Amino acid sequence: MDLRSRIAELMRPARGELAEFVAIRSVADPRQFPPEECAKAAQWVLDKFAGLGFSDAHLERTPDGSDAVIGSRSGSDPAAPTVLLYAHYDVQPPLDESAWRTPPFELTEADGRWYGRGAADCKGNILAQLLALRALGNDMPLNLKLVVEGSEEQGTGGLEAFVASHPEMLSADTILVCDTGNAAVGHPAATVTLRGMVNVVVTVQAMASELHSGMFGGAAPDALAALILMLASLRDQQGNTTIAGLDNTQRWTGAPYPPEQFRTDVGVLEGVALLGDGSVSDMIWARPAITVLGIDCPPVTGSTAAIVPRAAARLNLRVPPGMAADDAHAALVDHLKAAAPWGVHVAVDLEAIGSPFQAAVGGPAFDALGAAMSEAYGRPMTTLGQGGSIPLCNVFADTYPDAEIILLGVEEPLALIHAPNESVDPGEIRALAESLALFLQRYPAMRG
Ligand SMILES: [Zn+2]
Repeated sequence: MDLRSRIAELMRPARGELAEFVAIRSVADPRQFPPEECAKAAQWVLDKFAGLGFSDAHLERTPDGSDAVIGSRSGSDPAAPTVLLYAHYDVQPPLDESAWRTPPFELTEADGRWYGRGAADCKGNILAQLLALRALGNDMPLNLKLVVEGSEEQGTGGLEAFVASHPEMLSADTILVCDTGNAAVGHPAATVTLRGMVNVVVTVQAMASELHSGMFGGAAPDALAALILMLASLRDQQGNTTIAGLDNTQRWTGAPYPPEQFRTDVGVLEGVALLGDGSVSDMIWARPAITVLGIDCPPVTGSTAAIVPRAAARLNLRVPPGMAADDAHAALVDHLKAAAPWGVHVAVDLEAIGSPFQAAVGGPAFDALGAAMSEAYGRPMTTLGQGGSIPLCNVFADTYPDAEIILLGVEEPLALIHAPNESVDPGEIRALAESLALFLQRYPAMRG
């Protein structure tokens, strides 16, 4: 039987298996869910992979207190390359449970999709890995390593710190990060770039205290007015991010993100324009983007006729590949200080910084995966960017500079990951499983 038929057969009990996994409420936040749920999910993953030849599979406690499942499996040829499979067993909290049309932790079929928290992100990807390995059986020419972490959604960096302190344990020639998705159902894609980010708080001070706007307004230096001018200078009329010294003309060269689809995915209201003078993919994957996350100023309710002496804003700057996060941070600070009017006092405090990521494309693993995906989906593989950061990818790239790192998975836009009514298309699980199986079977020969 060929791989495709074997996976089709293995898909029949797959829904029940995913239902069992989704029923484990593995939200890695002890304030919201009991930690035993994460322990159960870790054990579930451990048992499944241990049964597939990862005989040394075990739990490793990481510095944030979460447990990662780690294991390895040798292939028939010890000189063959090593592939590391990555995923995470923790999930986002369900958020507003009343916004769910089906119970979040009961996998429910509707309109051909399977609904449930984590069904796509990332338990659906883990299921695809299991199916691929089952379909291959002992026909495994390469060496495998596995890491399934337990605190990805919390951003507490447990595995990042663990990798840095145990580099030998996860070293590999190729790392498949199974935690992204295609541009659309049935359209295979590898994610090859991630934006970095800079978070700052900018504080403006102009006077000792509040002043009556009737008595003093007009001449008294208004800190909130100064902040508004400074923030307004960060974008032009079209909505392009305009930070002095940061190139906002870079172009995306991979697959386009169709504007109509983007409007639907984002829920843009009638008559409201998309921002920027580039394409959607240019704007979200190739160019810097500033967002004002919050402003400290008097809320409308309770505000009085007073001029504000001090105001602050938290800003988030997304940094595309091709720019260094440190340079972007310096440019943002310089820009804000230069844009401050009337000699107001400005402080810019850095809260967080992360580098952009760019996968090396065109290597043997990238080509082998492209061929595998094209065969499994019946369409050529394209490349996507992702607007958010995955700090672990930078840690992998820094720790294993020679490894090919590729991101892929079942989390296409309809999956609504991180939102209520998350779901997965079972066809995506099947096709990802087939892609992984074909890749694992053929990559060693393509590497030569
Ligand atoms: Zn994820």
